[in-house]
Amino acid sequence: MKKIALFPGSFDPLTMGHLDTIRRGAQLFDELIIGVFINSNKKSVFTTEEKVTLIEDAVQDIPNVRVIYQETELTVTTAKRLGATILLRGIRSIKDYEYERDIMEMNHHLDSEIETVFLLARSKYSHISSSLLKEVLLFGGDVKPYLPENVYQLMMKKREEE
Ligand code: ADP
Repeated sequence: MKKIALFPGSFDPLTMGHLDTIRRGAQLFDELIIGVFINSNKKSVFTTEEKVTLIEDAVQDIPNVRVIYQETELTVTTAKRLGATILLRGIRSIKDYEYERDIMEMNHHLDSEIETVFLLARSKYSHISSSLLKEVLLFGGDVKPYLPENVYQLMMKKREEE
């Protein structure tokens, strides 16, 4: 049976840390679907359309990866609908671990047939998050090495327009 994994996240925006997890995840599963989801605790800077386009451009060279978005459904419901039996998530630190464990347990309660698989962030990306990069950029700091080129360009454009 084809192993399909769903990588859900807010991706506001995609970082090199996300991209590294995507590349590594794509090697583990037959298909990896990146799901742009709404996180009700976070206010988004990028629109869903922008996020999807940025991710699609950045993963063009990975053949078994595609991108979807979902605004109204539970992650496990989306996974089931897509035939995905695995949820992929990344862990950067102990702080992430505790948060991710709660989500994993809740998803297990909602659908025990879906398994969550975690990849530990590579140390060169373990200190970055979309929100930290947005904050540094807001005050003119250099975050170029941590962003895919297309994401960096759009962030700079948005900053100039402000
Ligand atoms: P969410 O709001 O669902 O946490 P994020 O876009 O912040 O969405 O993160 C999506 C997933 O990617 C999470 O599992 C997160 O831990 C992981 N992630 C975020 N940043 C990195 C990084 N720098 N390296 C590896 N994984 C990361």
